[in-house]
Amino acid sequence: MNNFEDFNTFLVQNVGSKTRAIAPTITPSAAFGYESAEEAEGIFDGSVQNPLYARMGNPTNAKLEAIMAKIEGGTDAIATSSGMGAIAMVLTALLESGDEVVCVGGFFGGTYTLVNETLARFGVKGVFFDVDAMKDIEAKISSGVKVVIIESVGNPNLKLPLLQKVIDLCNAHNTLLIVDNTVTPLIIQPLKMGADIVIYSSTKIISGHSAALGGIAVFREVGKNDKLKDTKYSAVHPIVEKAKKKAFFAICKKRAMRDFGMSANAFGSFLTMLGLETLALRTERVNTNVQIVAKLLFEGLRDIEVRHPSLENHEHHDRFKSNFSDGCGPLLTLDCGSKEKAFALLNNAKLLTQTANIGDNRTLALHMRSTIYRDFTPKECDFLGITDGLIRVSIGLESPHTIAEDFIQAAQ
Ligand SMILES: *Cc1c(COP(=O)(O)O)cnc(C)c1O
Repeated sequence: MNNFEDFNTFLVQNVGSKTRAIAPTITPSAAFGYESAEEAEGIFDGSVQNPLYARMGNPTNAKLEAIMAKIEGGTDAIATSSGMGAIAMVLTALLESGDEVVCVGGFFGGTYTLVNETLARFGVKGVFFDVDAMKDIEAKISSGVKVVIIESVGNPNLKLPLLQKVIDLCNAHNTLLIVDNTVTPLIIQPLKMGADIVIYSSTKIISGHSAALGGIAVFREVGKNDKLKDTKYSAVHPIVEKAKKKAFFAICKKRAMRDFGMSANAFGSFLTMLGLETLALRTERVNTNVQIVAKLLFEGLRDIEVRHPSLENHEHHDRFKSNFSDGCGPLLTLDCGSKEKAFALLNNAKLLTQTANIGDNRTLALHMRSTIYRDFTPKECDFLGITDGLIRVSIGLESPHTIAEDFIQAAQ
């Protein structure tokens, strides 16, 4: 599956059932009974595939996981309580105290603080690189690091990485690559390009409705001579030997989800699937809209810098044309020059919803420096592209002309 026609067909056909209840079934139980002592033993040793306890998985989550694994071309997936839950699960499952994690790109605030503050307290060090520092990235990867994490599109700096190059580098050096594909589901398919794990905040575009917090990690199959068998991953080798193809899934469940409990809940997964059903349709609409709005604002706003990779003045416009033919997600940014001007624009606009979310069916906007990035140092803001006048906009399903007109009137 790699076109929107196929995704549209697959998603509606698979989220719904043909017989009995058509909508996904919500299984709200926290615990599950076992038929016999033998079945209990089998469930715990993994030989029987029935639910164990909701912290370790639940039939509603399992449906969402199966659909996500299929659209990514992965072997399996794990739904989590949030996007941060998915990132925290994967990183804590794969890393030990004393390890480094290489972070390529701008970065969502939560991922940045997870690595820079929280994992640092447990002895894991984050090393950050700009997407264009390819020489330094290569030198670091070849020095033996275990894990690299990258965003398919920088949020909110809108830089476009050379994803295939980073994937190839990681594969050449037996390094695991996690791609945060939150803003480009269906558009970029990291596992098919050779990445190991793709993670999402399903709170965003996958749901689209702002009704469910959720995350998901999707894993590739582990093969016989897999890079995961490199001695640098010896801590997880007992699990790899036992779980074989499904090793990433087992590593995450046993080394993170079991003990930290970042598990998704059934009702959340149900709501996520209601959004997932129309993901392809909405993705096409939003990605068309964002380019129209970016162009109209670029032409219509004076003294405000409009930033989007579809605009010719963007530093990665060529990459946009060659690698993001279906778009690069719902975001564009406006640099108003000062906090006061940004606040005035936000407060004058009539259609925007001011919120910390992105990827909603509605158009959302937020001033960055006074909210998500308020605790960041000037140096960190500089690296992440956060200026005093920066507004992040997430374009929705509305008429792009109406949205652009609203921005333009708000800026008068
Ligand atoms: C929102 C977001 C996250 C975190 O997801 P939550 O569901 O809010 O925990 C991670 N990465 C990116 C790119 C995001 O936009």
